[in-house]
Amino acid sequence: MAKKKSDPIATSEPSKLKKKETPKIKTEPKKEKEKTEKEKLKNLKVKEKKTVEKKQKKEEKDEKAEFSSEQKLVALYNLQQIDSQVDKIRIIRGELPLEVQDLEDEIAGLGTRVENYIQETVSQEKSILEKQNGIKDSKILIKRYEEQQMNVRNNREYDSLSKEIEFQNLEIQLTEKRIKEFQSSLEGKKQEIERLESVLDERRADLDIKKNELGDIIAETEKEERDLIKSSEENQKFIEERLLTAYSRIRKNARNGLAVVQIERDACGGCFNKIPPQHQLDIRMHKKIIVCEYCGRILVDDGIVNYVK
Ligand SMILES: [Zn+2]
Repeated sequence: MAKKKSDPIATSEPSKLKKKETPKIKTEPKKEKEKTEKEKLKNLKVKEKKTVEKKQKKEEKDEKAEFSSEQKLVALYNLQQIDSQVDKIRIIRGELPLEVQDLEDEIAGLGTRVENYIQETVSQEKSILEKQNGIKDSKILIKRYEEQQMNVRNNREYDSLSKEIEFQNLEIQLTEKRIKEFQSSLEGKKQEIERLESVLDERRADLDIKKNELGDIIAETEKEERDLIKSSEENQKFIEERLLTAYSRIRKNARNGLAVVQIERDACGGCFNKIPPQHQLDIRMHKKIIVCEYCGRILVDDGIVNYVK
C-alpha cells in the first residue's frame, strides 16, 4: 500500500460543508453573536488543519481519520437532521393510508347498515300487507256471520254469531293498531336510510379526495425521500464505519430516532439528564465524539448546530 502523504481530503474541508458557508457570511447584523461563533469555528478549523497534518501519519490506519472530530460531529449532526426528515416523511406517508383505510371501513359499515334497514323495511312492508289482508278476511267473516244471523233458529245461535262478530271486530282494531305502529317504524327507517345515504355520499367524496391526495403525496415524498437518502449517504462518507454503526444502533433503539442531540439547558436533548460541566466543556471543544452517559446518544453543542443550520 502506498502511503497517502498528501491526501487532498485530509487538508481541505469537505466540499459540501464549504459550500454551505458562503451564503451564511451575509448574515444580518443582529446575528452578531452567531457570526462570532462561526468565526471561532472557522479559526478552530484552520488550527485543526495544521494538527491534522501533523497527526496524519499516526492515523493512517484508520481510513476516515483524516476528518477531524469536529468535521465528524458536523457530519453526524447533519446526518441526523436528514435522517429525521426521512423519518417524518415515512410517518406522514404511513398515516395517510390508514386514514384512507378508516374511511373505507366507515363506508363499508354504513353500507351494511343501509342494507340491513332496507331488508327490514321490505319485511315490514310485507307484514303490513299480510295484516291488511287479515283485515279483509275478518271483514268477509263478519259479513258472513251477519248473513247467518238472518237465518238463525234460536237466540243461542244468534248470540254465538254476535260473539264471533265482536271478536273479529276486535281483531280488526288490534291489527289496525299494529299496522299503524309498523307504518311509523317504517317511516323512521326510511328517513334513516335517506340520512345514511347522504352521509355515505359525503364519505365517498371524502374518500376520492383522500385517495388523490395520497397518490400525490406518495409521488411527491418518494422523490423527496430519494433526494434525502442520497444526501444522507453523502454525509456518511465523512464518518467512519465504527461511528456509523453506533449511530444506526442508537437511532434504532431510540423511540424518536434521535442518535445525535444538542445540549439543551445543560441537559442531554435526548433523555434530558443533566450533563456534568466537565463533560459539557469537552463537548464544546469538538475534539472528541462524546456520548450521553445515560442514554448513549451523541452530544453536540450549539456551535455544531448553528454551523449545520
Ligand atoms: Zn441522554
